[in-house]
Amino acid sequence: MQDRQLYEHILGIVAPWSVDHVELKLEDGEVHVHLAHQEEAAWRCAECGQPCPLHDHQAERTWRHLDTCQYQTLLHAAVPRTACPEHGVRAVRVPWAEPHSRFTLLFERLAIDWLQAASQQAVAERLGLSWDEVHAIMERAVRRGLKRREAQPLTYVGVDEKAFSKGHRYATLVNDLERGCVLYVAEDRKQTSLDGFWKTLTDEQLQSIQGVAIDMWDPYENSIRAHLPAAEEKIVYDKFHVAKHLGEAVDKVRRAENKQLQAQGDKRLVGTRYHWLRNPDRMADDQWREFGALRRSKLKTARAWALKEQAMVLWDYCYEQSARKHFTWWHRWATHSRLKPMIDKAKMLKARLRGVLTYLKHGITNATSESLNSKIQWVKYTARGFRNFQNFVTAIYFHCGGLNLAPTPST
Ligand SMILES: [Zn+2]
Repeated sequence: MQDRQLYEHILGIVAPWSVDHVELKLEDGEVHVHLAHQEEAAWRCAECGQPCPLHDHQAERTWRHLDTCQYQTLLHAAVPRTACPEHGVRAVRVPWAEPHSRFTLLFERLAIDWLQAASQQAVAERLGLSWDEVHAIMERAVRRGLKRREAQPLTYVGVDEKAFSKGHRYATLVNDLERGCVLYVAEDRKQTSLDGFWKTLTDEQLQSIQGVAIDMWDPYENSIRAHLPAAEEKIVYDKFHVAKHLGEAVDKVRRAENKQLQAQGDKRLVGTRYHWLRNPDRMADDQWREFGALRRSKLKTARAWALKEQAMVLWDYCYEQSARKHFTWWHRWATHSRLKPMIDKAKMLKARLRGVLTYLKHGITNATSESLNSKIQWVKYTARGFRNFQNFVTAIYFHCGGLNLAPTPST
């Protein structure tokens, strides 16, 4: 008798439900709590909430609850079904769990909270669940969160590709650069991968987008042009992606020159790869001094490096006219440098200058949200065990979607 009241209290079971009896299985470390309901309770249709007559009961179901006193606690109940004139025969909503879940609300909540801080594997082990069961909790949380997400105005978004698993498969991620969360994930990095994103937006959201940060990647650009009004003014090439391109060109020059020099016994460029690729702003004073003799030398690599650094100055301008002037001067210098890799990149930048200069107006890059990037890295790291792409998508939304994931009690 006391047992029943205690468990009603702990589990928050209220009328018309009550605890019928409690079964302790000490040897299994389990508590089984059997629930029953009043005979003449008033039930409502799960779909429309209209009071409906009782039709029958489902077979008994079981829900895993939070452990009580270190015992695994399981709830048992036969859920009534109502006959709604409009929706037919439906199981009623129970106050302790969401429809179709095998866990109580509190249990799911605990699992969700833990999953935000620990890997799926760790949570599964600690809660005594299988990996699939934990993943199902995540999937349900994400579905819930996406459904609740409201169409907020967007100002700046970033489109980023992420390699998924070792097989060079890619995911396209669309990030809200201001709120620092992932809005959309699709497989691959084709035009169609991004096309799907625009369809999730309302007209107001589409109109509200001022800028989109992307890599210099035509499929993304084509998708933006096909969906966003005045796209030319809104496409912004990611500064760090351009820097990577120029860095690759510098490295090509260095490799070729190093080979030539080494053939003559000159080892000046050996082991210097990262000196040339590093961002000078991030070099310590002594590193910068040490690098001084090299960068001031007459080496081709030093010239390529200076070209790269002068190209990056473009991002420091406030006015488009001055930036264009700088680019004209730089382009002339680069194309006359007789350094093939640099000439190629100069041509590329000239053809794509519009998307570089839009930065001056919008000031966005894909690195805008450092915390989001580190979360995505973490998901990728813990995602090594993911067997399919959909699991990866779920984890991205779960950890990086800024969603309200908590289960809600039915009323
Ligand atoms: Zn109904």
